[in-house]
Amino acid sequence: MSFTTLGLSPMLLTHIARQGYTTPTPIQAAAIPPILAGNDVIGLAQTGTGKTAAFVLPILQRLQRSPAGGIRALIITPTRELAEQILGTVRTLGAGSRIRSASVYGGVGFEAQERALRGGADLIVACPGRLLDHMSRGYVHCGTITTLVLDEADRLLDMGFAPAIRRIVTQLPAARQTLLFSATMGPDVADLVRAATRDPQTIRLSSDRPAETIAHAIVPVAEEQKMMALLELLRRERAGAVLVFTRTKHRADRVAQRLEREGARVARLHSNRSQRQRQMALDGFRDGTFDVLVATDIAARGIDVSTVSQVINFDMPDTSDAYIHRIGRTGRAERSGDALTLATPADRAMVRVIERALGAPLPRHPLPGLPMVDDVPPVAAPAPQGRPAPTRDHRADPYGRPPAHQSPRPSAPPHAAPRPRTPDRAAQPGDEARPAHQPSLHRRRYPR
Ligand code: AMP
Repeated sequence: MSFTTLGLSPMLLTHIARQGYTTPTPIQAAAIPPILAGNDVIGLAQTGTGKTAAFVLPILQRLQRSPAGGIRALIITPTRELAEQILGTVRTLGAGSRIRSASVYGGVGFEAQERALRGGADLIVACPGRLLDHMSRGYVHCGTITTLVLDEADRLLDMGFAPAIRRIVTQLPAARQTLLFSATMGPDVADLVRAATRDPQTIRLSSDRPAETIAHAIVPVAEEQKMMALLELLRRERAGAVLVFTRTKHRADRVAQRLEREGARVARLHSNRSQRQRQMALDGFRDGTFDVLVATDIAARGIDVSTVSQVINFDMPDTSDAYIHRIGRTGRAERSGDALTLATPADRAMVRVIERALGAPLPRHPLPGLPMVDDVPPVAAPAPQGRPAPTRDHRADPYGRPPAHQSPRPSAPPHAAPRPRTPDRAAQPGDEARPAHQPSLHRRRYPR
């Protein structure tokens, strides 16, 4: 299959080639023709499958071939990072066209967004809350919109945007094309599909399943061993960038500070950071200024860094969906990646939920040198429906990388014992003593 068979214009084909895309991904091959034909499309595809280009390319072509005037395409997405990423794709793939595009989200000024919404842009990528703010001021004319995209619909609903989306959708012309993308199809998404689309064509690509190029593993630890385990994982020689997820912003800060003290080049991404800080963190992570990005779930949907080789869940995610979205940050566009989850005995129930969602047990990779903890035993998972869950074992790593459970330094001595907890305070990330023998993390270099 080649892009030339999809009905895209020569200009778009040139930009596709410039991006180095040689073959369409499955979602692109399946979604581009019906979108070009003007149909409503539901794309059930996990993150990292190339779904952004799957809707951006045909939208650009349809915009180029229809008369200009007002906002014609509206893309709604849950996070600012994702909005910027989509806008980046629009501008890269639409370079040289006359299509004007802008993003609309909170945390930054209103003026430039107001100008774009008053008719300065053909295509708007927006987060729902700020878009509604603008709409309530009366200058957004939605009557010219011919295409609506609801991207990451499951996440939009998880984040409580259902009422906002409803209000936005009711202001759009009924005769429009609606494209809805979601990694999962729960009852809420199904309701939204019914309310917002007309006779849609559904494209289902092993949704609810992460990319099969990802190797998953559970690293059993005690809460107070987490920091040591993370340091050990980061010391291993691996190519690429590492994304670390924590449960809270505060923990993200503490983990990042500790890694900095160890000499790592670390950035932080969470909602207490200003938009500028968030953008700098992402840009620096992308261009290799930072090796490690410590983030909360807000970042899970917005990060597209093709070199992410490892996602480390410092804290267990709250839901299996969150797990799938977090680890969807690695193994993007059919590259390989590792997803390692530090799991304490208290995380057992969640491990089971994730294993059930994936349809297979996750391999356990205890770290040598850490005192043994009560392991999280694998469950006998139900037989997977469709393709088996991706549980590529590091031991048989086709990419020739060292196994995750073996130190590449054969003589590595065991870690120093963790500092005892004070009785009136729970263990915090960063509490553990730095093992005296360990090299600092700044020696670690990732070829990009
Ligand atoms: P997405 O799922 O849209 O976030 O895309 C994930 C990554 O895949 C992005 O880095 C894209 O640049 C990349 N990508 C999209 N389409 C292709 C393709 N046809 N070939 C190779 N990479 C692609």
